[in-house]
Amino acid sequence: MLPLKGDFPLKRGDDVSQTMLHPEIETLSEDRIRRLQSDLWTAQWSHLRGRSRFYAEKLGVHLSKDASLEAIAELPFTEKDDLRQSQERVYPFGDYIACDTDKPVRLHMTSGTTGRPLQLANSQRDVEVIARIGGRALFASGLRPGDRVVHCLNYCMWTGGVTDHMALEAAGACVIPFGVGNTQKLLETITDLSINAISCTPSYPALLEKILRDSGRSPQDLALRLGLFGGEAGLDNQDFRDGMERTWGFGVRNANYGMSEILSNFASQCEHTNDLHFHGSDALFPEILDGQGNSLPIAEGSTGELVCTHLQKECQPLVRYRTRDVITVTTTGRCDCGRTSWRFRVTGRTDDMFNVRGINVFPTAVQKGVLSRPDLTSGQFRIVLEGSGPWDRVNLKVEAVHDLLEKDWDIAAREIEMAVKHHAGASTSVTMLAADSLPRTDGKTTLIERH
Ligand SMILES: [Zn+2]
Repeated sequence: MLPLKGDFPLKRGDDVSQTMLHPEIETLSEDRIRRLQSDLWTAQWSHLRGRSRFYAEKLGVHLSKDASLEAIAELPFTEKDDLRQSQERVYPFGDYIACDTDKPVRLHMTSGTTGRPLQLANSQRDVEVIARIGGRALFASGLRPGDRVVHCLNYCMWTGGVTDHMALEAAGACVIPFGVGNTQKLLETITDLSINAISCTPSYPALLEKILRDSGRSPQDLALRLGLFGGEAGLDNQDFRDGMERTWGFGVRNANYGMSEILSNFASQCEHTNDLHFHGSDALFPEILDGQGNSLPIAEGSTGELVCTHLQKECQPLVRYRTRDVITVTTTGRCDCGRTSWRFRVTGRTDDMFNVRGINVFPTAVQKGVLSRPDLTSGQFRIVLEGSGPWDRVNLKVEAVHDLLEKDWDIAAREIEMAVKHHAGASTSVTMLAADSLPRTDGKTTLIERH
């Protein structure tokens, strides 16, 4: 394994060190990144092939070869179900583990929203890599030493809690570990400790706003300067971000994209783009698969399922892991922030997709349509799917914006139907609801109701 720091000498100009946590990585050319990944993969491959029983079986004849990055597309994929079955065979960590059982220093569970949860084991080295890259992502989103950030995700078992907390610390900020619930106390704490940044799900501020307004206060009274969000789609919509920035007076960033079985946080927005920078090039080898399972180049316009291979992972390394997230590469050149990492948007989930009259529709595309009309809706909505489909049209329940009169709801519904048709390609039937009538949660909001 390569050392964590200091192995890529680069003259560190003052400007760069103020805008990047790891300029020695974040400014590398595509060629240098590729060479670095190649070296890391050589070390990872020799670690993996001698230790993981699961991969010894899965990789079969490939194990005797010296794998190069160029040949990685010949290796079989790993699916989430493979990991579940592996952990049923050998509980709790699965037979894909590639270290001794005394090596893990932290255990997490996935939330298990789509099936049996996974048990995630990380060594000291693993948690350092995760925090380092998460810190890089949060720094890119504007978090700095001297900031006080309150972390409002669930600390009970899952990675959004303590692991994301460690990433916030790695960015250099002072972190207040708050967790979820107890919102009155949260509002008092923000004022009392002069907290200037918040880390939470993007739907949580709507809940805080309601409590503030009910007590005659305004969100801007809290004087937060930065909102760091993750865990839900929607933040790549400029209108939604602008609306939240106007309400709160803080900068809004999608600062936390990742998956707990891969890396908790490996992509985030900087101040110059609505797209996500891919920050994990020294820990992950990414591929993009088209609908036929072919690898597409990381080039502008490539759209497909994100597949990741660990380049630095001791406990539970993954090879060609299918994330089920569909992404589109938006840019590969140098960003105005100075980073050279490629940028992308998450355009859907392969398993959330549903079909309306032959058109594949992603909930995130419907959301884009809804969020494009902040003049009509609060942005809160649910897709209602009756039966098992296929559907001719889909019912949407959409919340009206606060000051929209009920007599104007019919016109608003037709306008939103047109916006959704434009963004998602599907016909919908919109029913308007009063503002604040859909439940706000402090966890992950499900956009689809199935009946
Ligand atoms: Zn940037």
